[in-house]
Amino acid sequence: MYNEKVMDHFMNPRNVGEIEDAEAIGEVGNPRCGDIMRMYLKIDNNDVITDVKFKTYGCGSAIATSSMATEMIKGKTVKEALKLTNMAVVEALDGLPPAKVHCSVLAERAVKAAIYNYAKARNLMYEELEGFDPNDGHDHHHDHEEE
Ligand SMILES: [Zn+2]
Repeated sequence: MYNEKVMDHFMNPRNVGEIEDAEAIGEVGNPRCGDIMRMYLKIDNNDVITDVKFKTYGCGSAIATSSMATEMIKGKTVKEALKLTNMAVVEALDGLPPAKVHCSVLAERAVKAAIYNYAKARNLMYEELEGFDPNDGHDHHHDHEEE
């Protein structure tokens, strides 16, 4: 049911683990399949994400999309990382089965949640975070977007 690229990221996920002195940590969940994801970001003084790690308890789709998402935001600025959409991650994976696309939202939300906490602790504002609520665990916003 998963393509080769997805299987590769699922079986050999990149950037798994934690960063003890991370500047940003975000945790999100997906009540529908019980996926939980925690994202750690190392951010330098120029707002560049120098390292990313994640831990997830989730299905294959959640693991593969987190793995790909960490690869896509590493070396990017915080602002660039905030522009990462779950659909861009799904595209980079050459697609997911339609029933599993909702799990990809978790990766996007975990990145945003981490940066949300980072911004809050430092009194920073990112317009990309406007309207983002890290406690809104439902995935109904993005489910059928941009299909
Ligand atoms: Zn899932």
